[in-house]
Amino acid sequence: MTDYQSILERTVRHVQPILHHGKVADYIPALAEQQLGQFAIAIQTQSGDTYSAGDCEAKFTVQSVSKVMTLTLALQRYGDELWHRVGKEPSGTAFNSLTQLEFENGIPRNPFINAGAIVTCDALYSRLSAPIHTMLESYRMQTGNPKLGVNKVVAQSEYEHRYRNAAMAYLMKSFGNFNNEVEEVLWSYFNFCAIELNAAELAKCFSYLSNGGVCTQTQQQILPAKQIKQLNSLLFTSGLYDAAGDFGYRVGMPGKSGVSGAIIAVVPGRFTIAVWSPGLDKVGNSVAGIAALEFLAEELGTAIF
Ligand code: GLU
Repeated sequence: MTDYQSILERTVRHVQPILHHGKVADYIPALAEQQLGQFAIAIQTQSGDTYSAGDCEAKFTVQSVSKVMTLTLALQRYGDELWHRVGKEPSGTAFNSLTQLEFENGIPRNPFINAGAIVTCDALYSRLSAPIHTMLESYRMQTGNPKLGVNKVVAQSEYEHRYRNAAMAYLMKSFGNFNNEVEEVLWSYFNFCAIELNAAELAKCFSYLSNGGVCTQTQQQILPAKQIKQLNSLLFTSGLYDAAGDFGYRVGMPGKSGVSGAIIAVVPGRFTIAVWSPGLDKVGNSVAGIAALEFLAEELGTAIF
C-alpha cells in the first residue's frame, strides 16, 4: 500500500530550500500581506482518505482555483450550451489579458482565464438567486466544514482594485456577451475568489475531479463522468495561465492554480492533490507548489501519460 503520509512529508522537506523563492501576489494589498516561507500539501484519495503535511492549519483564499467550481456549477445548469459564451482553447496569455477578447468578439478563450471565469459567473448569476450562498454551500458540503466562508477583506480589496476585470466585463458586454449588471457579477466573482480554506479542504472540495464526478465526502454525483473527462482535458491545456505547457511537461496532470499560491492537480481514478505556497513565479504560479507536484509525480509515478 502507498504510504501517502511519508511521501507528503518527504515532499515538504524537498521544497524547504525554495520556500522563499518567488514573490507574493501584490496586485491587491490584502494578498501582498501574505508571508513567504509557508507550504501545505494534501491528498484526497478516491477511497475518501485525506492526508496532509506542512502548514496544514494555514488558511488561504482559493483565488483562481474557484474558476473550476464556477465552471462546474455553470455546467450543471447549462451543459454544452455554455460553450456558446466561452471557448475551450488555451490562451497563451496572462490570466488578466484583455487583448484576445477584442479580436475574438468578446468570447473569452477558456473558462480559466479571468474573462472566461467572469462570463461563466454571469451565466451562473442568471440562474441563481443568491450566487455566493449557493457557491459556499457546495464548498461546505464537499469539505464537510459548515463554517467555511469568504475572507471579506480580500473580497473587498479585489473589488476596490477591479478596473482590469471590470474592463473585460464591459468589453464583453459591448459585444453582447454579458447579461447582468457588471458590478453585481464582479462582486460575486470576487467573493468566489476570496473563499478561504486549508489544503486538506481544498483537496476534498475537488475530489470529484479524480473520482468520475462523485464527491468522495458526500458520494454525490457533482457532474457526469463524461463532463469530468472534458473538464480535466481543459484543465490540462489551460489550467496554469500561460504556463500550462510547462506544467503539463513537468507534472503531467490536469491542474489549476491561483494567485494566492494554491494549486490543485488531478490524477483520474486515484486522487486530487492540493498544494499551497504563496511565493509566485513570473506568470503567477506557486514556485514551491509546482516543484512539489513535480516531485510527487515522480515519487508516485502519477504523470497520466
Ligand atoms: N481574484 C483574482 C483576479 O481576478 C484571481 C486571479 C487568479 O488567481 O488568477 O484578479
